[in-house]
Amino acid sequence: MNGKAIFLDRDGVLFDNSDQYYIWKQEQIRFVDGVFDNLKCLLLNGYQLFIVSNQGGISKGLYPKDDILNLHAGLIQTFRNNQIEITEIVFCPHHPEIEKCICRKPDSILIEKLLAKHKLSKEESYLIGDSESDMEAAEKAGIQKIKINSNQDMYPFISFLIR
Ligand SMILES: [Mg+2]
Ligand SMILES: [Zn+2]
Repeated sequence: MNGKAIFLDRDGVLFDNSDQYYIWKQEQIRFVDGVFDNLKCLLLNGYQLFIVSNQGGISKGLYPKDDILNLHAGLIQTFRNNQIEITEIVFCPHHPEIEKCICRKPDSILIEKLLAKHKLSKEESYLIGDSESDMEAAEKAGIQKIKINSNQDMYPFISFLIR
């Protein structure tokens, strides 16, 4: 049987981005309320966790790709220290003003690759995001979608997934 997954947008969902649009340094990280408890509950309910993020700041030259790779390695470790296993973090480094690509949300290639690679069930998998482009990407990938309020505890929106 195929596994089930939660694809999480990063900014506005895990990281509070209310006063900063681009986040690429450890010092900028402020977690949204409830993130640790919510992810733990999702794991306990059998969901594998993935993060899918647009990082157009790389294309714009605002920060190097290595900074994002380092940030994400640290993030995986922080979650692991709290008994939360993130299976994989993927991101699109492109920005439409600089270069065209097919991986930036609302496109769905990044999600589709993860679905295939990890043999995940489309019917039972969800994308949790705070923007229309997240919702569109979920629709294109053929998975379910949940739109939450930016920078707020996602619990009211995901409580139906948690027993
Ligand atoms: Mg977002
Ligand atoms: Zn891209």
